[in-house]
Amino acid sequence: MAQEAEYIKAHYSKFEQLLTQFVEIRSVSNADDDMTACIDFLKTTFEKLLNAKVTLVKTAGLPSLVAQINGTSNHTVLFYGHYDTMPGGTRDLWETDPFKLTLKNARYFGRGVGDNKGQLMAQILGIYTYIQLHGTLPFNVAFLVEGEEERGSVNLKTTVSSLHETLLKQVELAVVVDGSINQNDEHVVRLGNRGLFGFELITKTGENDNHSGNAGNIMTSAAIKLVAVLRKLYDFDEQRVLIPNFYQGVPQGKEIKTDLLEALPFDKEQISSQMGLKTIPDKMEFYQRLMYQPTFNIAGINGGYTGKGLKTVIPHQANVKIDCRLVGNQNIEIIRKGLETVLAAEIQSGEVSINCLGAIPPSTSDLSKSLIDTFAAIIKKATGSVVIEPVMAGTVPNYVWTEVLKVPVVTIPYANYDQHNHAPNENMTKKDFIDGIKISYELVNSLFK
Ligand SMILES: [Zn+2]
Repeated sequence: MAQEAEYIKAHYSKFEQLLTQFVEIRSVSNADDDMTACIDFLKTTFEKLLNAKVTLVKTAGLPSLVAQINGTSNHTVLFYGHYDTMPGGTRDLWETDPFKLTLKNARYFGRGVGDNKGQLMAQILGIYTYIQLHGTLPFNVAFLVEGEEERGSVNLKTTVSSLHETLLKQVELAVVVDGSINQNDEHVVRLGNRGLFGFELITKTGENDNHSGNAGNIMTSAAIKLVAVLRKLYDFDEQRVLIPNFYQGVPQGKEIKTDLLEALPFDKEQISSQMGLKTIPDKMEFYQRLMYQPTFNIAGINGGYTGKGLKTVIPHQANVKIDCRLVGNQNIEIIRKGLETVLAAEIQSGEVSINCLGAIPPSTSDLSKSLIDTFAAIIKKATGSVVIEPVMAGTVPNYVWTEVLKVPVVTIPYANYDQHNHAPNENMTKKDFIDGIKISYELVNSLFK
C-alpha cells in the first residue's frame, strides 16, 4: 500500500470525525442558520490542520474565507469550494436525519455532504496527509471558500475582483472541486462549461383584458403579440436564433475537440431512457450539441385563459421565459444588445419589456496539453480511471477565474453521480470521499513536477 493510503487508513477515524462535525453544523443557504459557526469551524480547521493563514472576507452577503498555505516554490494554486448548503427539505423524504452524518451501505448521508462539504473536507485532508508525510508543500496553496454558491454565487465576481491584486495575486491556476463524477463511476477532468443567459419577455397590448366579440379586430391579443415577437427572435422552421450576432463566438472547426469527444463513454439506449426520449442523436452529434452548440429554450409561456371550457377574452398581457446556454466565446452583452435592437420598435412603443434573469458567461479554460495530461495522470494514479470532458453542458461561474483572475481553471468533481445533491438523501460514498483525499494528495505531489 502506498504511504498516503496507509496514512489515510491509520487516521481515518479522525478524518471521519471532521467530516461529521462539518456536516452537522447547519449552513443552509437562504435560511437564518448560523453561518458564523460554520465559517469559524473552517477557519480553525485550516489553521490547525494546514497551518494556514486565514482571512475572512466580507461581501455584500455572507463572508468568504481565504486560506493561504506556503510551499517551497513560487507556484500558487487556488482551490475553490463552498460552505453553504441547500435546505434539508421535507424530513419525511429523508431516510436519515439530514443534519446528522450517517454511514449506511458504505455511503455518508447528510445535507451538504456531497455538495460541497465532503468534497472540500477531502481536499483539506489530502493536503494535510501530504504535509504530515513530507513536512511542507512543494508549492503555495490558496483556498477560496464562499458561502453563497447555492444562491448563484451572486457576490463571487466582486469578491474575486477585490482580491485579485492582494490575497489572490500570485494564483496561476484554479482548481474547482464540485459536481459529480460520471455515471460509470469514472472521475472526470472538466475543461470548460456552457454559460447561461436567461430573460423574460412581457408583451402588453392594453390596460385590461377585453371581450373578444366587443373588441376583436380592435385590440390585439398579447399572446398573439408574444408569438409574433418570438418569431423575430427564432426561426422555428430552421431552429435557428435570429438575434443579431447571437452565434458570434460559437466554436468552429478545430476549436471542437473531437478527439476528446470520441473518448467519452456513450450508451445510447441508457441515455435516451434516462432522458425519457424515444431516441437521441448518435454519439458525436450528441456531444457536439451538448458541448459546442448554444441553445434557445422556451422554459415557460403564459398568457390569457387556459382553464376549462372557452372564455372569449382578449388578454392584455403575456410573458415568456427563455434561457440560452452559451458556448465558446459567445458574449452576453452582445446578445443582449442584439435582442434590444431587434425588438427596438416594440420596446419603444411599450408593447414589449425585457427582464434579464441570469447572466453567466461560458468558460473555456486554456489549460495546456501538458497540464491536462498531468491532471489526467494524477486522477488515474489516485483512483484508477479518468475521463476528460472538454465542456460541461451545465453552467458554473468558472468565468471568474478565466476573466477576472485570468488563469486557467479545471474542474475535478469528487462526489458520486447519484449524490442526490439538492434533493433528499444527499450522500457521498465512503470510497469517493477517500478517493477525493487521495486525488488531493496526488495533486500536491505531482503538479509542477
Ligand atoms: Zn449545489
